[in-house]
Amino acid sequence: MLVLVVNAGSSSLKSQLIETDTGVSSMKCLAEKVGAADGYMNVSYAPDFEKIKYDMPDVTVADCLAKLLEVLVEDETSPISSLEEIAVIGNRAVHGGEYFTESVLVDDDVLAKYDACSDLAPLHNPPGLACMRMVRERYPQIPQVAVFDTAFHATMPAKAYMYPIPMEYYEKYSIRRYGFHGTSHGYAARTAAELVGKPVEELGIITCHLGNGGSITAVDGGKSVDTTMGLTPLEGIMMGTRCGDIDPAIIPFLISKEGLSGAEVDTILNKKSGFLGVSGVSSDMRDVEEAAAAGNENAQLAIDMYIYRVQKAIGSYFAILPHTDVVVMTAGVGENSISAREQIFAGLEHMGMKLDKERNQVRGENTIISADDSPVTICLVAADEEACIASDAAAIASNL
Ligand code: ADP
Repeated sequence: MLVLVVNAGSSSLKSQLIETDTGVSSMKCLAEKVGAADGYMNVSYAPDFEKIKYDMPDVTVADCLAKLLEVLVEDETSPISSLEEIAVIGNRAVHGGEYFTESVLVDDDVLAKYDACSDLAPLHNPPGLACMRMVRERYPQIPQVAVFDTAFHATMPAKAYMYPIPMEYYEKYSIRRYGFHGTSHGYAARTAAELVGKPVEELGIITCHLGNGGSITAVDGGKSVDTTMGLTPLEGIMMGTRCGDIDPAIIPFLISKEGLSGAEVDTILNKKSGFLGVSGVSSDMRDVEEAAAAGNENAQLAIDMYIYRVQKAIGSYFAILPHTDVVVMTAGVGENSISAREQIFAGLEHMGMKLDKERNQVRGENTIISADDSPVTICLVAADEEACIASDAAAIASNL
């Protein structure tokens, strides 16, 4: 089935045309700096994937999707000549709040509920919503499916998702922990179960999605029982530009000492913290590793803090899972940083996690990297969010 996967960000649009029967992608699109005067969109088609650049000054993310749907029909090298060839659009949806526990076919009710969750993800929900609305208005014949980042974590028990703050705030505003990267954690757990050759229902798995954003999830019998991200993607481990867990009293302290507004502190914690804030070098792990190797002490400290916080998160899930059989590493850092993996597991042998240094010399593959005598199997899974979204969308569309 031919699926157009749409991933609308706050100032970007990523899209792919994926044939789910073969897993082959025949079009890739990336729009960046959307909303700015120098915004642009690159579209490329199989087999060469040579980029065609469209200038998109001062537009919205939904405008970019509208343009993409036009050029898909017009471009000579496009794999399709009519939008009727697209069986379904699979939309990445960020925050489904308490409404959505699985992927759904988009209708007006779904859009209204997704809109109601915008408060919880003000940067990410509105552009995705605008894209889905635009398609529904202009191309009502194309079915759309929404795949939520939060849905996989809907199985968390209340003791894991509630915050110890007055109950009235949960009742009034649904303030609770939701978790993100759900598509990735679910895929990582299922793929790891295949790698170890056991049904996911029998396994206790800790999935580590370590990218620019990062979260770690405890998966018991295939279900998320706890995850490090919370109401928003700011909670949890240290990330590229996000602080992760800090003492919440830091926020009023900064507001009072620096004369900042709440929104300004929010920006500092989301965009200027993490690797970037501590190292002063970059939010990108590769740059920070390079700077540390060249003797930059703050860069080294940032890496040490990151490793330490990831180890603590893995340890806490080892404690709450009835049994831990597998730990999975996925996403940019998890898949590619041989050195980060080596450092993380160097401290975890006493929990039965024994990395095989030779097997660990690998990037972006689905494979086992622990020693044969390691009580806990350590796996690497190459994240493929687009393929997961396409597969969910195709599954729902095939029942129409
Ligand atoms: P996003 O959350 O933006 O999807 P990714 O999953 O692509 O992020 O991860 C981006 C992170 O992965 C960056 O910090 C980048 O430095 C890191 N990364 C990618 N390749 C490597 C590598 N070879 N070694 C170390 N880090 C890497």
